[in-house]
Amino acid sequence: MSALGTVFLQSSNFIDSAYIVAFMLLIYGMTGLTGPRTAVRGNKIAAVGMAIAVVATLLRQHEFSGSGTVWLILLGVVIGTVIGIPAALRVKMTAMPQMVAIFNGVGGGAVALIAWVEYRHGFGGGFPLRVEIFELFGAIVGSVSFWGSNIAFGKLQEILPGRPIKLPGQAGINFLLFAVTVVSAVVLAAGTHSQALFILGILVAAAVLGNMLVLPIGGADMPVVISLLNAFTGLSAAATGLALANPVMIVAGMIVGASGTILTNEMAKAMNRTVPSIVAGGFGGAVAAPAGGGGESGGTVRSTSAQDVAIQLAYARQVVIAPGYGMAVAQAQHAVRELERALEAKGVEVKYAIHPVAGRMPGHMNVLLAEADVPYDLLKEMDDINPEFSRTDVTLVIGANDVTNPAANTDPSSPIYGMPILEVDKSGAVVVLKRSMASGFAGIDNPLFYDPKTSMLFGDAKASVSELTSEVQAL
Ligand code: NDP
Repeated sequence: MSALGTVFLQSSNFIDSAYIVAFMLLIYGMTGLTGPRTAVRGNKIAAVGMAIAVVATLLRQHEFSGSGTVWLILLGVVIGTVIGIPAALRVKMTAMPQMVAIFNGVGGGAVALIAWVEYRHGFGGGFPLRVEIFELFGAIVGSVSFWGSNIAFGKLQEILPGRPIKLPGQAGINFLLFAVTVVSAVVLAAGTHSQALFILGILVAAAVLGNMLVLPIGGADMPVVISLLNAFTGLSAAATGLALANPVMIVAGMIVGASGTILTNEMAKAMNRTVPSIVAGGFGGAVAAPAGGGGESGGTVRSTSAQDVAIQLAYARQVVIAPGYGMAVAQAQHAVRELERALEAKGVEVKYAIHPVAGRMPGHMNVLLAEADVPYDLLKEMDDINPEFSRTDVTLVIGANDVTNPAANTDPSSPIYGMPILEVDKSGAVVVLKRSMASGFAGIDNPLFYDPKTSMLFGDAKASVSELTSEVQAL
C-alpha cells in the first residue's frame, strides 16, 4: 500500500468514521435481539460492527508504544478466537448461563489487566485527576466482576455448592476489602513511587471482594447476580474507555452497563427482592436438597401414567403448560408443541405459563418455545396467567420446580419466601413431569409434589410428552 494510503487509513478522521459505522451496526444489530426470529441476524450484524471496531483500533497503532504491540494484539485475537469459537459451538443450550457468566467475567478481567499494564508503565503522572479516577474505577469494578463471575460460573456449573456460603463476620471483611481498594486508589491518584504495588493491591483486594460478594448468594437469586455482574463489566469498560479516550470502549461499555442495570432491576422485581438485599446475601437454597423419596414435606406422592393423564387432558376445557429448566434439558419444546396441537385438535384451549426466571437465563422458555413455533399469543406472563389457574382444569408442569413452589407464598422460613411463583396449585389438577423427586436449582423441597391435587408423571420430559401426545391422539 502506498505511503499516502497508509496515512489515510491511520488518520483520525478515517478511524473515527469507522467507529461510527461500528456503533451503528452494533446498535442496529441489538434491535434484532428483541425477538427470537431476528436474533441470529442481529447478532451477525453486531459481530460485523465489532470486527470493524477491532480493525479501527488496530489502525490506531501509532498510539501504542511501538508497532511490535500490534502483533501481540493479533496474537491475543488468535488465542481468543481459538478458545472462543469451539466453546461457543460446543456449548449446550442448558450450559449457556455459565458460558455467559464466564465470558462476561473475561471482559471485566481485561479491564482490570489494562489498568495494571497502564500503571506499570507509569500511568497517572501527566494525566488529569478525572482520567485517573475513571481508570481506577474501571480497575476495581472490572476485578470484582471477573472474580465474582468465576464464582457464579462455579455455582452454575455445580463445581461449587449452589447454596449460600457465608463466612463469620462477612460484612466486616467486605467493608475492609472495600476500604483497602479505596485507600489504595486514593494513594495512587495522589501520586506515589510504588504504583505497581498499589495497583496490584487494588486488584487483589477487589478480586477477593468479588468472590466474597457472590459466595453468599445462592439458589434462586443467581439470575439477579449474573445480570448485576454483567452491568459491572459494562460500567468498568465504559470508565476505562473514558480514561483511555477510546470511543468503542465507552459506547460498548455503556450499552452493556445500561442494559445490565435494567435487567438486574427487572430480575430483582421478578423475585420480589431488592438488589441490596440480594447482595447482602443469605437468600436462596439454605435448606438441604431432599434426596429422592418422600422429602421433608413427608406427604404422599401419587405417581400416574401417560394413559390416565391423556384422558384428563383430552376432556379438559383449558390446559396450562408450565415449562421450566427440565424442558430445556430434555429439549422437549418440539414435543410440547405437538402435544399442544393434539389437544387443540380435541377442542382443548392450551396456554403456556412463563415465569420470568424459569430455566437458566432470562427469556429461556420464550426462546425455546419460539424455536418450536409456539404462537406468541399463547405465551402468558406470570401476572397474566396466575388469575387464570382457578379456571384451569389441568396444569402440566414440564420440568419446572422452583418457579411453582407454593412455599414461596406460604412458608416464611423458606429461602424463596416472597418470590412470586406460578400459582399452579390453584388449578383443578396438576401433573408434574420430571424424572425423580430431586429438587430444582434452589435445592429445596417442593410441597406441590405432595398436594392431593398433584400427580407425578416420572420420566424424561421429552419421552413423557411424546407418549402423552400419542395417547391423546389415540382417544
Ligand atoms: P428448577 O431448576 O427449579 O427445576 C428443574 C427441574 O427439572 C428439576 O427439578 C429436575 O427434576 C427437572 N428435570 C431436569 N432434567 C429433566 C428432564 N430431562 N426431564 C424432565 N425433568 C427434568 O427449574 P425452574 O425452571 O422451575 O426454576 C429455575 C431456577 O433456576 C430458579 O431457582 C431460578 O432462580 C434459577 N436460575 C434462573 C436463571 C434465569 O436467568 N432464568 C439463571 C440462574 C438460575 P429431576 O431431576 O427430578 O428430573
